[in-house]
Parts: sequence; structure tokens; C-alpha cells
Amino acid sequence: MTDKQARRIAEFIAPLRVEPGSKVDLARDFDPRYRARLRKRDSTELLRTGVSLLAEYQSRLAAQDTYGVLLCLQALDAGGKDGTIRHVMSGVNPQGVRVSSFKVPSAEELDHDYLWRYARQLPARGEIGIFNRSHYEEVLVVRVHPENLERQRLPEDARGRGVWKRRYREINDWERHLCDNGFPVVKIFLNLSKEEQRTRFLKRIDLPEKNWKFSAADIRERAHWDEYQRAFSEMLSATSTSWAPWYVVPADRKWFARICAAAVLAHTLIELDPRYPEVGKAARKELLAAKRQLEGEAPEGAERDPYAAEHGD
Ligand code: AMP
Ligand code: MG
Repeated sequence: MTDKQARRIAEFIAPLRVEPGSKVDLARDFDPRYRARLRKRDSTELLRTGVSLLAEYQSRLAAQDTYGVLLCLQALDAGGKDGTIRHVMSGVNPQGVRVSSFKVPSAEELDHDYLWRYARQLPARGEIGIFNRSHYEEVLVVRVHPENLERQRLPEDARGRGVWKRRYREINDWERHLCDNGFPVVKIFLNLSKEEQRTRFLKRIDLPEKNWKFSAADIRERAHWDEYQRAFSEMLSATSTSWAPWYVVPADRKWFARICAAAVLAHTLIELDPRYPEVGKAARKELLAAKRQLEGEAPEGAERDPYAAEHGD
């Protein structure tokens, strides 16, 4: 990774970042069709570069075992969360990645505070954790459909006016705690237009192999489009912080959304700059002793060090 590449990635994602403290109006501030003048025909190559960069950094992250990265993905239905995860993480060692999807909470989950189920799925050091939907549902679907809040059985004084403001603060505090302790939080909102959602729903209905992805609930949710846009705008304004800013990724073009998601995650990893641990003097001595022993065991006529012969070192 050269400084120039790192700078190019930083510049590429800058227009997607929600400035901490700014007031977002999604419709006015972010265009779901923006594509930074990239062309689709260059996208496969660009994504391939991004994916191999991620693979390299993930390997270093795991070896260093100091930081864990949490990637939160939010979107409306058909926004492309699943496809983004599949494509962006396609080159990464599955051992180092943990994907968690959050659905309607279970009875056990409702028996705890609202952050409990998310905390249980956090990545360990060395891992990349991906939240397919996240704790942000607690200020999105729960807000648009207040019966979800009812089900959480909060004490009287915790559910009155100000509950959303309080949740924003609690979420910000929680993320700050994670960042301060070695777990940076990366937040991506896949910003889809209403028209593109309509097209994707129709495709899910028309293509038998996509039928399973569609449910009647999706149409019911679509009827709440404007309320969701407002909830997203307010959530982005209140929870884009200097320690965990939001990135609004234009999602009408899947190929562009995937490049953006890879770039945002890569940017975080580049900033972390995880390194392979260097062995100390004593360990180095042990390695050399082991090497001498292995070379001594070489059968008659065999290379003493076939690896060095092959790799020329
Ligand atoms: P899907 O991602 O299509 O499998 O759908 C998961 C569903 O679970 C969506 O309709 C979400 O709105 C819903 N969901 C996720 N988190 C929550 C939550 N905390 N409370 C209520 N519903 C939720
Ligand atoms: Mg769905």
C-alpha cells in the first residue's frame, strides 16, 4: 500500500462521509445514483483490487491480534446488504470474519436491555465482525413501528419523550467505548431510491430463484418510506461522530455500492495499519536452531533448504 493509494481511497470516500454535527436531509444531501464518474466496465477490476487489499489487511489484523473491526450495514429492504457482504468479503479468510444478521428480537433478547443482543455478537481482537442490520434498528424500525418499543417492556420513565435522543447518546457512548478499547466501528448506510427499490422488488417477484427474498411485509414497509427517510436522516445527524462517522453509500448501482463499501472498510484498516508481529531475539534464535535441525535432516541428494531455493532467499 503506497501513500498515494491510501490518499486516493481517502479522497474517494470523503464525499460519502456524514460530517459529525451536521444536519442531514437524505433527499437533499445524498444522491442514490452518484457514481463519482466511475464506469461500470472498470468496476470489476477496481473491486478486485479492493478485495485483495482487504484480504491482505485482514491477515495482518488477525496476526497482530490487537484490534477488532466492527462493520455495521444498514439499508432498507432490497438495499443490497447481502450482496455487498458476499462480494466485498469474497477474498477474505472466513476464519477471520464473523457475520451476524439481526431479525425481529426473540423473547430472550427482549428480556434484556436493547443493546444486549448486539454486544453478544461483537468481534474479538483480530476479527472483522459484520452486522447485517445492527443496533441502529433500535432507532429505525423500532421508531417507525412503536409497537416494537412496547414489546421491549421498558420501565415507565425510560420510554417517554426523549427516548430517541437518549438512545442516540447511548449508542454514541457505546461506540466510543468500543473504539477506545481497540474496536473501531465502521458504519455504512446503503442509500437506495424508492424507484430502484420498486424495480428490485419486481425482479424478486418475477424471477423464481429470487422469490424467497420477497415477502408481503416488504410492501407494507415500503408504505412507510417517508417515515424511514426521516428516521434515517435524524439517525445520521445524531450518530455520525468523530470516532465512528457514517458513510452514506449510493446504492442504486450495485457495482458502485460494492466498491464504496470495500473502500470504506479498507480506509479504516489502512488507518489502523496492523503489522505482522516481529519475533524477538530469543525467538529468532530458536527459529534458526530449528532451521539447522531441519536442514540436517535432508535426505541424501535433496536440497538442504528447498524453500529458499524456490523463493531465492
Ligand atoms: P431481513 O433482514 O429481510 O431478514 O428482515 C429482518 C427483519 O427484522 C426486518 O424487517 C427488520 O425490520 C426486523 N428487525 C430487525 N431488528 C429489529 C428490532 N430490533 N426490532 C424489530 N424488528 C427488527
Ligand atoms: Mg427482507
